[in-house]
Amino acid sequence: MNRTRSNELYEQALQHIVGGVNSPSRSFKAVGGGAPVFMQKANGAYFWDVDGNRYIDYLAAYGPIILGHAHPHVTEAITRAAANGTLYGTPTELEIDFARMLKEAIPSLDKVRFVNSGTEAVMSTIRVARAYTGRAKIIKFAGCYHGHSDLVLVAAGSGPSTLGIPDSAGIPLSLASEVITVPFNDLAALEEALAVWGGETAAVMVEPIVGNFGMVMPKPGFLEGLCRLARAHGALVIYDEVITAFRFHYGSAQTYAGLPLETPGGWDAVQPDLTALGKIIGGGLPIGAYGGRREIMEQVAPLGPAYQAGTMAGNPASIAAGIACLQALREPGTYARLESLAAALADGLSAAARRHGIALTVNRIGGAFSTHFCDHPVTNYDEAQDTDGERFAQFFRLMLEQGVCLAPSKYEAWFLTTAHTEDDTAATLAAAERAFAEMAKR
Ligand code: PMP
Repeated sequence: MNRTRSNELYEQALQHIVGGVNSPSRSFKAVGGGAPVFMQKANGAYFWDVDGNRYIDYLAAYGPIILGHAHPHVTEAITRAAANGTLYGTPTELEIDFARMLKEAIPSLDKVRFVNSGTEAVMSTIRVARAYTGRAKIIKFAGCYHGHSDLVLVAAGSGPSTLGIPDSAGIPLSLASEVITVPFNDLAALEEALAVWGGETAAVMVEPIVGNFGMVMPKPGFLEGLCRLARAHGALVIYDEVITAFRFHYGSAQTYAGLPLETPGGWDAVQPDLTALGKIIGGGLPIGAYGGRREIMEQVAPLGPAYQAGTMAGNPASIAAGIACLQALREPGTYARLESLAAALADGLSAAARRHGIALTVNRIGGAFSTHFCDHPVTNYDEAQDTDGERFAQFFRLMLEQGVCLAPSKYEAWFLTTAHTEDDTAATLAAAERAFAEMAKR
């Protein structure tokens, strides 16, 4: 595949933009380096790069593009909003409509606040949890990524682990010491941490279904145990649903029927106090939101003492795009279709890898899955790290050369969109068959 123009643009970008990219996960550092592909246009399930090559897109912009690119309903909503002015700095009626939609879909939200990114949403839940409890410490799980704010960039997954940076520089040790990290799916470790720090812990934060060291389900009883233990110590539970909300059904992971639960308490036993949202709820425009129990959210200014604000927050374009996206997702059959496309692809990849003697673990949840080059299950971050990064890099490049765009990291998921077709998944499987055959030779 000729990528002359991409390569030229990368050289130019390096002179003006740090690392040539505006988010480190876009660089190809984790897959052997070199120029990332510069895309020019996207429509439906496809990208076209600046050299005119077409790719089937499974990156979905790291998750938000669940309807595919330039979905007509979303595009129309954005255009209409833009024509009426993109930013007011005043409240608008649309914000109420959207808040209502989110509350209807996610029952644990009594009140919400819109922000501009998942990072901001998570950061704000921590502020509020600390304000409400009067405590400082946060317990989180190894490999879960919660954005790039100081507190949660300790032992984080996604970009930082991909680049082999366990903690970021620039985070004072005094702050990092307010964060305790325990392995995902390990209630005994959480219990130990709470036994020591329970009295100082403001919140236990988790991706209820992990999307940042591949797709990883909580084990049966894990979320219930987490909620029970946190509450026993007076700590709040924060679910980071930036990836998971509206991913697997019209709602969040906290009410997803596919969750392997052992909950005598039913759904009530796994409800968080606070939830962070982002990605899909912006329909492809910048957004984040957080919300939860009324008395906790009422800590937030102007009602309470916890300050949180934003010039761009709740802007009409993002809100309109989010509403349009959720409206489209509400169409009957949407999630069943995403799931059946993903299942065919994930099962096909497993079978093809087996045929060529390539060890591959595929974790699929609904319309998203992750591919781990290893011969063991992946249920926590250690197991996700203990996979063959070289093999992933080979696979990534062989797929890219055949016009299939994956995220350039062994930790990121493949996301199906409503724009993908059976022809796309069949073409992807044919490409994977050739990639595995080539890998088996090396
Ligand atoms: N939380 C989770 C679970 C995420 O996956 C991400 C982004 N990948 C974030 C928070 C941060 O969101 P943003 O990049 O919009 O700041």
